[in-house]
Amino acid sequence: SGPEIWREFDRSKVYTADLESALHYLLRVELATHSTLEGEELKVFKDFVTLVSKLYPGGGSVVKLMETLSDWLLSLPLQRIPYQAVLDLVNNKMRISGVHLGAELRWVGCQGSKVGLRGYPCSLWTLFHVLTVQHDAMPTALENTGLEGETAPVLQVMRRYIRTFFGCEQCGRHFEQAAAASMDRVLDREQQVLWLWNQHNMVNYRLAGSLSDDPLFPKAPWPSPSLCASCHEEKSGVHVWNQDNVLRFLRHHYGASNLSPTYSL
Ligand code: FAD
Repeated sequence: SGPEIWREFDRSKVYTADLESALHYLLRVELATHSTLEGEELKVFKDFVTLVSKLYPGGGSVVKLMETLSDWLLSLPLQRIPYQAVLDLVNNKMRISGVHLGAELRWVGCQGSKVGLRGYPCSLWTLFHVLTVQHDAMPTALENTGLEGETAPVLQVMRRYIRTFFGCEQCGRHFEQAAAASMDRVLDREQQVLWLWNQHNMVNYRLAGSLSDDPLFPKAPWPSPSLCASCHEEKSGVHVWNQDNVLRFLRHHYGASNLSPTYSL
C-alpha cells in the first residue's frame, strides 16, 4: 500500500467507511487468529453477525453480506467451523453478488496521525455506539433471533465479543470488569445507549495522556461543548452532564441520518 493520504472529515459526522473497515478488519484480521471456531466462540461469533445483520443501518451491501453469513452460520449443522470456510464465504459472496465490504481499510473519522494509532479500536467503539442507537430506534429488530430476550442485547453481544476475540487483551479485561460491575443495572434501550457512552468516557479518562493517545485526537470527555453545548451543565461550580440532552445528542450523532457515505466504496 502506498503512502497514507489524509482524508478531510467532519467530526460531527459518522463515516460508513469506518464501519465497513471495522467489519473488514474484524472478519479478515481479528478472526483469522482463530483457526477454527467452536463451542462458545462459535456462538459468540454467530450472535455478533446476527446483531450486525439486524441493526446495521441502511440495508446496503454490508447488511446483505452479514445476512448471508448469518443464514449460512445458522444453517450449518457443524459444531466447529474452520476460519477458512468463513473467509471463503465472505470472499465468494463478495465476488458473485457484487456485495462488498471494501477491499482495504479506509479510516476516516478513525484516522490516526501515525500508523498504529486509532483505526480499528476507534471503529469498533463507533460500530457499537451505532448499534445501540439503532436498537433504540428499532426495538423489534431483534425479534426471533434468540437475542430478543436480553435486556441489553447490544451490550451483551459486545461484552462477549470483546472478551472472546478483541485483540487487545488488556482492553478486554478492563471492559469485562466494567461490565460485571454495572451492566446488569441497564434496564432499557435508553440506558443501553447511555451506559456505553459513559463507559467509553471512563476509558477516555483513564487513557488521557497515555501512549495510545493520538496527539491530534487527545482523549477527553465526549461530546465536547463544541459538539453539544447543552450536554454540559454546571451545578454549584461543578461540571455535570445533562443526560437527557446527551441521549438526544447520541441518537442524532450515531443515528442513521448522520452517517456519511463519503470515502465509502
Ligand atoms: P476512541 O476512544 O476510540 O473513540 C472513537 C470515537 O468515538 C472518537 O473519535 C469520538 O468521535 C467518539 N467518542 C469518544 N468518546 C465517546 C463516548 N464517551 N461516547 C460516544 N462516542 C465517543 N485502550 C487501552 O489502551 N486500554 C484499554 O483498557 C482499552 N479498552 C478498550 C475497550 C474497548 C471496548 C475498546 C473498543 C477499546 C479500548 N481501548 C483501550 C482502545 C481505546 O479506547 C481507543 O479506542 C484507542 O486508543 C483509539 O482512540 P481514539 O482517539 O481513536 O478514540
